[in-house]
Order: sequence, then C-alpha cells, then structure tokens
Amino acid sequence: MKLMKLFPFLFVLIVLPFTSHAWGTTGHRVVGEVADAHLTSQAKKAIKAILGNESVAMVANWADFIKSDTTLKDLDPWHYVNLPDSLTRADVQHFLSNDTAVNVYNKTMWLIKELKNKKLPKDKQAFYLKLLIHFIGDIHQPMHTARATDRGGNSVKVGWFNESSNLHTIWDTKLIDMQQLSYTEYASWINHPSIADKTKWQKQPVSEWVWESYQISRTIYQKTPADSRQSYRYNYEWISTVNQQLLKGGVRLAGVLNDIFK
Ligand SMILES: [Zn+2]
Repeated sequence: MKLMKLFPFLFVLIVLPFTSHAWGTTGHRVVGEVADAHLTSQAKKAIKAILGNESVAMVANWADFIKSDTTLKDLDPWHYVNLPDSLTRADVQHFLSNDTAVNVYNKTMWLIKELKNKKLPKDKQAFYLKLLIHFIGDIHQPMHTARATDRGGNSVKVGWFNESSNLHTIWDTKLIDMQQLSYTEYASWINHPSIADKTKWQKQPVSEWVWESYQISRTIYQKTPADSRQSYRYNYEWISTVNQQLLKGGVRLAGVLNDIFK
C-alpha cells in the first residue's frame, strides 16, 4: 500500500528531470551510417586511424553520453541554437554571425576549423571528431534550432499515443522509434539521394542548414499545438520531413569530413 502511494511521486522524480537534447540514439546513428556511405576512401582511412574499430554511426551518440560527466557540463549548450520567432533569412545569418555566442552553429564551425589543423594532438582529434559527428546531426533536428522560451519544445506538452510527452521528444525519438527499424535498416531505407541533391546539399554553408531547420521548426510549432495528442496522423504528415533531415544531415556530414580529411 505504501509503495502504491509513493508511485506517483517516484514517477515524477524519475521522468521529469529527463528532458532530451538530441535526435535519439537511433537518429544520430542513422546520420552517421548515411555519412559513412558517402565518405571518400581517403576520409574513411583517416577516420579509421582516429576512431579505431568504432564506426561513425557508433560514436554519433557519444556527445550525449558524456552529459552525465559533470566536469563536461559546459558542453551542454553546444547541442542547439535558440532562435526567436519570425526571423528572416538575413536575420538568422546576422544572428549566427555573432561569433562569441556558445551554440551548435559556432561550435560546429569551430570544430571543423580545429580538425583541419594537421598538428592537432591525437586525443583532441578523437574528441573533436566525435563531437562534430553528433552536432551536425543535432543541427538537422528542427527542434534544436527552436525557441528559447520553451527550451526547444521541451516545455510544450504534447501527448504521444497514450503517453505524456513533449514536442522536443517527439522529434528526437518518438517518430523515429515508431518505424521500428535498426539504424542500419533505417539508413538503407532513406540513403538514396540524387546526385544533384547530394551536390547541392554539400555545397550549402552550415548557416543555410540552420536556416532550413529553423523554418521547419516554425511549421512544427504551428501544426503541433500545446496539449494536443498526436499519433498515426502525425507520423503520416511528418515522417518524410524527419527522413529528409536525417538524410541531409548524413550527406552533409560526409561532405564536411571529406573536406577535412582530403
Ligand atoms: Zn545533442
């Protein structure tokens, strides 16, 4: 009896502190697996020399795993960029050009620059490479370029089938997990970009990726009211967007890695 009374409190204790910050484990691995297929043989070789037997897909979640290390707490704001509503493309570009801000855009640019330095020590190379693989995935999760006021949708309560959830989590994991695919199955499902798309996506600057994600997040906000309950219809309407973002993330990650290790 006592335990039954305690249960609701335990539930609050266990569930509430867990707000998510990224595509879930499958999403990040899909981005890594997609990227792997578009690497040049030279980049593949260089990455293997750094990561050893770990694949790009399997290190893609490491930046989330280290969040439990309190000495690395400073890295938490590296996973997202908060942007206010109703910005134009020029506004977003202007916002991103403030290079002292700590956000996923600036840190991604910084990591790319660092990794191009041939004299970077080995341990830093591995550390930065794992971070970069993760953050390029994060930029493509639209709720990582969303409002500060609701913490990228973490505070927007939205039901998912019969459970309580929030807008951010639905985009991190719920839609992806609903497909019931392993990350390799998922990657084989979506990894078919046309050559024209691949070339176009890889040429676009990182600021353009942010602008795209930002625009998608605005539509998501409009179409997902707080306190709504979502299920099959939401999957039907949004899964192609999820897949397009995962695909772009992987293809662009490969483009960046091919350029770093050329
Ligand atoms: Zn993240």
